[in-house]
Amino acid sequence: MSIDTNLHVGPYLVQLKTKETEVEKTIKTCSNDNCQININNERQTSKFCPNCGSPVLEKIYIETEIMDICDILCNNEEFENELSNIDQMGCRKDNIIISNGGSPFDEDRWTEDDDICDLTNVNVQEEIEWFKNEYKTILEAIEKELGENAYEIKYGVIQWYS
Ligand SMILES: [Zn+2]
Repeated sequence: MSIDTNLHVGPYLVQLKTKETEVEKTIKTCSNDNCQININNERQTSKFCPNCGSPVLEKIYIETEIMDICDILCNNEEFENELSNIDQMGCRKDNIIISNGGSPFDEDRWTEDDDICDLTNVNVQEEIEWFKNEYKTILEAIEKELGENAYEIKYGVIQWYS
């Protein structure tokens, strides 16, 4: 497996918050409240618990699930094609999200072999406005799910690996 180093220059999204949801789950596990198998909500397929011998029965428990911007992107194929998390290893609290297709500003400022990016005439605010406008639908969906101030649009140079 080889690792590619990528450089993003331009607007990006920083996640500021996630949402916790309590979800009711049902599993078959040991019916003994004091048994570790029950406490850990370990699924059992046998009739009796291998640890304490109590019968295996259905148990309902509450699990806290964390929803973040990656979940919102992953749950919608259209969104996932537009924006993605730079951290290929998975989601983190401070997700950094960038445009998959770059921006129209990229064309003029990178040299042909992508080794120099000329930022002499950059207009940061204009590019941030482009991002907000280009991904309006996605940003609205994020706000709807995670609430106001769920993210911030920033501008900068990000090195990431794929
Ligand atoms: Zn048990």
